[in-house]
Amino acid sequence: MSLEAALRYHQSMQSTVGNTRQTTGHPSGFRTYDSRLEPIAAKVFAQERLSADDGLALYASRDVLAVGWLANHVRERMHGDVTYFNVNRHINPTNVCVAACKLCAFGRKKGDAGSYTMALDEAWATAASGYTEAVTEFHIVGGLHPDLPLEFFLDLVRGLKERFPKVHIKAFTMVEIAFLAKRAKLTIKQTLEKLRDAGVDSMPGGGAEIFTHRVRSIICDHKIDGEEWLETARLAHKMGFRSNATMLYGHIEYDEDRVDHLLKLRALQDETGGFQTFIPLAFHPENTPLDHLPVTTGLTDIRQIAVSRLLLDNFAHIKAYWQMLTPKIAQIALRFGADDLDGTVIEEKIYHDAGATTPQGMTRKELCRLITEAGRVPVERDTLYHAVTRTEDSFTVAV
Ligand code: SF4
Repeated sequence: MSLEAALRYHQSMQSTVGNTRQTTGHPSGFRTYDSRLEPIAAKVFAQERLSADDGLALYASRDVLAVGWLANHVRERMHGDVTYFNVNRHINPTNVCVAACKLCAFGRKKGDAGSYTMALDEAWATAASGYTEAVTEFHIVGGLHPDLPLEFFLDLVRGLKERFPKVHIKAFTMVEIAFLAKRAKLTIKQTLEKLRDAGVDSMPGGGAEIFTHRVRSIICDHKIDGEEWLETARLAHKMGFRSNATMLYGHIEYDEDRVDHLLKLRALQDETGGFQTFIPLAFHPENTPLDHLPVTTGLTDIRQIAVSRLLLDNFAHIKAYWQMLTPKIAQIALRFGADDLDGTVIEEKIYHDAGATTPQGMTRKELCRLITEAGRVPVERDTLYHAVTRTEDSFTVAV
């Protein structure tokens, strides 16, 4: 369904007699047995910004259905039933990494068993092998390789643009960009300029993890710190790049760390407006040095989606990344604040090295079924949230 058709459908549903959903005013359907949620609900209905204390109350509340109700209210106010997905392909050019983040099951030291680095031809062939469903996006992230120069990554991107000129290239986390800049002895801005000239269109949101120093010094002490991540994103946005933002939850962080993380992203978004989507990432401990920690539960996952939707009032989209959450939880999340399911992905490596048991890819048809069965309206998007219209053998993007 096109975006216009989906929005028309949403409007017609809003005006249907007997439809109790309201998009303005004080909705009558809200009920909670947690009195601390009442003033938060009043703010949500008045479209007022929530505070750090509100965020902590949302995390602490036992009435997770009421928290989800509020998040769903905001989600429907913003998007109606529209739920986005895209047709993308992941490319992880190398898993060799100088950092040894305790959160990670993907990175390997050079020469270790299981380490790999794609030659350029191999990376381009990998891109082509997932092209059969007419992907609109390549999502490219990898390890911090000690030897690969910036020029290798510029060639990689140039080669992809030559071969697949219509495909949007969303490449390199803020952590990778800062690392490449340091290796090339360039400023972040100079590095971003080179990436832009080579054909990078936007950035993914990875590497943010949790910004607070206490947590970061334990789970990823060799990475750039939280302030550097935010500063790199700030520079990218000021140069006109759009990016996503993530948060890795479910390890050693407290609710205070999560709230701090979300509010720092919200503050930067106020400043730049450059973030498109927030993606809460559930920690997968298997095959990491933190494998003694339990995996997140379904309630933790859907609460995280809901709190994100409520605190990040200036983010257009909240993504339920089905690869990490499982398709079943991601589908439920579409009723708890999420409006995006990510994409077909094709060959996800990073979370599968950490024990994810989800499929490594999904077809457009399967994604649409998940969304439709959740009572939502699937809309295929490109990376920048333009609706994609397909015919048998081609697609066009509404701009
Ligand atoms: S999380 Fe990223 S930076 Fe850290 S070890 Fe893994 S690949 Fe390297």
